[in-house]
Amino acid sequence: MIANAISIHESIWRRLQSQRDRLPHAMLLVGQRGVGKFAIAHAFAAGLLCESPRADGTACAACAACNWFATGGHPDFRLLQPEALADEEEAAGGDERKKEKASQQITIAQVRALDDFLGVGTHRAGLRIVLIHPAEAMNRNTANALLKSLEEPPPGTLFMLCCSEPLRLLPTIRSRCQTVAVNPPPAAISERALAAAGVADPGRWLALAGGSPLLAAELAGSARDGWADLLTRQLLALDGIDASRLAGDLEKILKDSRGRLPLRIIVEFMQKWLVDLNLAANGMALRYFPLQQATISRLAGGLDPLRLARGYRALLERRRAAEQPLNVRLFLEGLFIEYQGLIRH
Ligand SMILES: [Zn+2]
Repeated sequence: MIANAISIHESIWRRLQSQRDRLPHAMLLVGQRGVGKFAIAHAFAAGLLCESPRADGTACAACAACNWFATGGHPDFRLLQPEALADEEEAAGGDERKKEKASQQITIAQVRALDDFLGVGTHRAGLRIVLIHPAEAMNRNTANALLKSLEEPPPGTLFMLCCSEPLRLLPTIRSRCQTVAVNPPPAAISERALAAAGVADPGRWLALAGGSPLLAAELAGSARDGWADLLTRQLLALDGIDASRLAGDLEKILKDSRGRLPLRIIVEFMQKWLVDLNLAANGMALRYFPLQQATISRLAGGLDPLRLARGYRALLERRRAAEQPLNVRLFLEGLFIEYQGLIRH
């Protein structure tokens, strides 16, 4: 994992620090998935609540407030995230059943529970922070419940919302927040940070992550089981894939990971593959698999752009279905048979 997301987002960190003494009521950190929004927001919150922050605004990691923060028990801090996301962090040994049932949404009960938190005085420095991640995991009702607090925030309260898909937020929520754009850092900076974190071949993973350094680290870590190499090798074969065998092999890897590797990781990989096929079909530079430009261009030769677009739309459906698959093996087989049809046609 990248140790310090702040060092790769220096200018954003400085901008946040410049507001330390005149904080807005609400900030919306917007940027693509895995770019480091949450890490920045979390570090900013820690630095604000710390009793003796360092000169650069980061938390001291030694005071009582920092200790509480690190153990998730700071009385003036609340983190709202979907149950499934919280479980993922502790799923290493993996109770899969628990994970499957866990909500992918931030629930209205979680937002309502904020009322008590916001209704009492602060315990420490007179600042209270609510971090919501990801904000698009709130449905309409939940967002409306939050809106009440956003419209009339108690004094000394800072809401920080992280979001990769701002168009899915209620406009009324967006308009209450000061927007902070978190763009991907220059590739060279990210690659250096990834290499320092022990990631081999950082360029490959950074490209696959669309330039998001934290997602790149996550992908590189997850790929130790070999799923990405297996999939890439099969997809690069010019005579096509063996859908049923590939589905079987991948199913086994996912199963062995005991919930650590979600099925969606395969679907997202295929989405990126189709994006690059489409780019190649149009004679453009690839985005996610630049190292495979030559082979992908050969595969893309003669592909019907309309079929490719339909294939991509079908993948969007599958991406949704991947959250609660009935049968992983059949799901993967269907996915690859469809891909095979697309390529062979
Ligand atoms: Zn501290």
